[in-house]
Amino acid sequence: MFELEGEEHAAIRDSLRRLARDCIPAYLAQENSEKFPRELFQKFSAAGLSGMSVDERHGGARLSPTLASAAIEEIAAVNLGPAIFLSVHSMVSGLIEKFANDTQKQLYLPKLARGEWLGAFALTEASAGSDAAGLKTVARKDGSDYILNGDKCWITSGGFADLYLVFAKTDPALGKEGISAFIVDKGDRGLSWGSPEKKMGCELSPISTLQFDDLRLPADRLVGQEGQGYRIALGGLAGGRISIASCAVGLAREALDLAVAHLTERKQFGQSLIEFQGLQFMLADMKIELEASRMLTWRAAHLLETNPSDPKNRLYPSIAKCKATDAAMKITTDAVQLFGGAGYVREYPVERLMRDAKMLQIVEGANQIQRGVIARQLREHS
Ligand SMILES: Cc1cc2nc3c(=O)[nH]c(=O)nc-3n(C[C@H](O)[C@H](O)[C@H](O)COP(=O)(O)OP(=O)(O)OC[C@H]3O[C@@H](n4cnc5c(N)ncnc54)[C@H](O)[C@@H]3O)c2cc1C
Repeated sequence: MFELEGEEHAAIRDSLRRLARDCIPAYLAQENSEKFPRELFQKFSAAGLSGMSVDERHGGARLSPTLASAAIEEIAAVNLGPAIFLSVHSMVSGLIEKFANDTQKQLYLPKLARGEWLGAFALTEASAGSDAAGLKTVARKDGSDYILNGDKCWITSGGFADLYLVFAKTDPALGKEGISAFIVDKGDRGLSWGSPEKKMGCELSPISTLQFDDLRLPADRLVGQEGQGYRIALGGLAGGRISIASCAVGLAREALDLAVAHLTERKQFGQSLIEFQGLQFMLADMKIELEASRMLTWRAAHLLETNPSDPKNRLYPSIAKCKATDAAMKITTDAVQLFGGAGYVREYPVERLMRDAKMLQIVEGANQIQRGVIARQLREHS
């Protein structure tokens, strides 16, 4: 467990840290544009990150869950946007590898793994968020084809992605057992999308609505079997939650580093602020929360790596996601406080970290939903 940072691990982490620090800053100027930074995605793809959840035989360079967590942490420490769109792209690629048939794998995985195509995950709808099984998009059978109608919202990379993994009801009477998963191609007639939403943060990872208007899908776009869609959507949860926890650890780490540097440099009352014990205690608490979050994230990633079929893979990713994202919210808020007025001004980087942290408490199952998952596990195993 505590061997996770072995030499190989540390070397890969170092090279990803350099890559993120070299590549991302040039795109920060476009942070307010809500535009997808395609060239940045291609740079990360060239380093193998677009294929981190895909096997070599399908053109990927699979990273173990602990290494993937370290990679996402390093990227998020520089900027949350690319960490998020890479996480979603990897989840979609991983689900296609796990559930699609061989023809679909050969057709789509090499393009996704090489970063020629960007993947998106389309589950949420205006009336079905936490209660995703209540989705209303329908895929009606027409001969051997399906006709897709409905709307999705808040879709990461919406309008910029090349492939959408879309969840729709093939048999609405069956509830969640009637949900199926489909591959929708950006060029399919009947697909449209809204303008990128103006968000509180995470601007380098745009989100938008999607509309399906009598979109005809041939039968070979169905992933898995009819009615298997909800299981497919849940199939990405453990890895997805660990990714979000890793993003939170990256953000929190950066906020703490910035706070220590600022308090060391800034003088008031004739001494560096870091000399005041009240502020030292705040820094110590931030460090305790950060280390606890990272340990829980590693714990979850390590279990997924060493025993993917262990039922505890339903518990630990939720614990890690809750702890790390709540801690990131607290640590980034404290960092703003420690910067004083400079913390509230866009010229300094900490206010962005605080805005970005808020997103992590909401996505990939809001933290109330995670607490529900944890409580259910306690009840079932008591
Ligand atoms: C930046 C961003 C990117 C996103 N990317 C994607 C994406 O790529 N693909 C996708 O499909 N979706 C995406 N989403 C949607 C996201 O998954 C949902 O916003 C999230 O699941 C919450 O759903 P909701 O917004 O409908 O909130 P609601 O379900 O309306 O919840 C509102 C509040 O009520 C709480 N709540 C709900 N039910 C319960 C309950 N039973 N018990 C206690 N509390 C409860 C929630 O925790 C939350 O605090 C994205 C959202 C954002 C903000």
